[in-house]
Amino acid sequence: MSLKINSKKYEVLVIGGGHAGSEAALASSRMGAETLLITHSRETIAQMSCNPAIGGIGKGHLVKEIDAIGGEMGKAADATGIQFRVLNASRGAATRGSRCQSDYLEYKKVMRLKLENQPGLTILEGVAEDLLMEGNQVIGLSTDKGEYLAETVIITTGTFLNGLIHRGQDRMEAGRVSEPSVKKLSFSLGKQSLQIGRMKTGTPARLDRRSIDWSKMGIQPGDENPKKFSFWDSKILLPQVVCHIAYTNENTHRIIQNNLGRSALYGGKITGIGPRYCPSIEDKIVKFADKKRHQIFMEPMGHSEECMMIYPNGLSTSLPVDVQHDFLRSIHGLEEVEILQPGYAIEYDMVHPTQLKATLELKNVKNLYLAGQINGTTGYEEAAAQGLMAGINAVLKVRKKQPFILQRNEAYIGVMIDDLITRGVAEPYRMFTSRAEYRLHLREDNADARLSLKGWELGILPKHNYLQYKQKQRE
Ligand code: FAD
Repeated sequence: MSLKINSKKYEVLVIGGGHAGSEAALASSRMGAETLLITHSRETIAQMSCNPAIGGIGKGHLVKEIDAIGGEMGKAADATGIQFRVLNASRGAATRGSRCQSDYLEYKKVMRLKLENQPGLTILEGVAEDLLMEGNQVIGLSTDKGEYLAETVIITTGTFLNGLIHRGQDRMEAGRVSEPSVKKLSFSLGKQSLQIGRMKTGTPARLDRRSIDWSKMGIQPGDENPKKFSFWDSKILLPQVVCHIAYTNENTHRIIQNNLGRSALYGGKITGIGPRYCPSIEDKIVKFADKKRHQIFMEPMGHSEECMMIYPNGLSTSLPVDVQHDFLRSIHGLEEVEILQPGYAIEYDMVHPTQLKATLELKNVKNLYLAGQINGTTGYEEAAAQGLMAGINAVLKVRKKQPFILQRNEAYIGVMIDDLITRGVAEPYRMFTSRAEYRLHLREDNADARLSLKGWELGILPKHNYLQYKQKQRE
């Protein structure tokens, strides 16, 4: 079957509508560039693959910086947050991190509507398959719907490239649970002689909240006066909820220990490198064998009766379903628990980020940018920040303007990109305040003073927000 070549040439073509792709597409179209976003499905735009939360230590800084420049993540988090907390609130201002628990269905809906209503942005549901090249320069993309020409292309495909899900000894090709693995595009990238690596991450089972005995668990409320992320006119809209705290015990550990050989991780099935800071429960039992219990935050994934799912934060696993069932039921309060979706681990291809320039354009492939998990990072915030920067720089390249590069003393975004491109990654990279040597200066609360003028000059931050910023500075 010969596929149609579309005569229209886009200035920026974004592949993937995850957290990186959403910010990239918004930034580019807000700067006035004709932008095409190609993603598997509108329904999975900005989907939270794992924990239903935005922000945290170091990550909250990234959200504030994205917001200060004119990105969307902070506003979407405010509109859909169901529990806000400032972490490290008793410590120095530089190490505080804003975090909110999100209604995951609302979050993706709010972001999708933002993208659908953005002038200059076209969304196409489809599968990106092959890069169209002229020498060492990308000129467009072949998809299952036809070919699209573009001056610049940004790839933000997350965990989908050659994605392989593991649960016990079972393996299936997938980008996330029930979503396709992407093989053709991975092959297409391989043809560009790029150095490709393999990483892994994991997620816990989702639990039915009606099957949990909450009276046996501790309560973790949000802050009494919840503080929103955005510097601008967003509001906290949803009712606020409490989270609960549960603990594993020696029986839980014994069940896991007895079944380690059946875990994909310890049964030798997984070769990719996982995130050190989000270890699976198997990892915790092995590496911290002296610990009698581990804390689990029981996080609601939504506020309404429509969302029954609870995310047990701290129980990521690649054990088979029957073992997940048994160890969960050994936990106080979960004796009768029902699993709505079992946990799993996933391995995927990533591109070593030392092959990128500071603009996130590949050094050896002209006009091709990479952002998000494909660059070896983990986390929605890290992905969104890279997406924003790639979107901005793609437009500046098309307009033949100077690139937009943030230095390490200007922003956590600058620290992250500099770390990625100069040091590379040996494991999934996540942001921490300890990575920023200028952290006493790079606080969450001054992100607008550091970056909003730049966002306005780039044409992303709207005029009324810029005027708000000027007024605040005057005061
Ligand atoms: P994604 O959010 O994955 O978005 C990729 C998008 O690209 C999707 O919309 C997909 O449909 C689309 N796409 C892919 N290929 C194509 C194609 N060929 N054509 C069209 N569209 C395409 N992060 C943490 O910080 N902590 C965790 O504990 C954690 N656990 C995780 C567990 C699992 C199982 C998974 C899957 C992820 C986990 N993450 C975790 C990572 C977090 O989800 C990602 O870092 C973040 O979502 C990356 O954003 P992204 O925009 O790069 O990619």
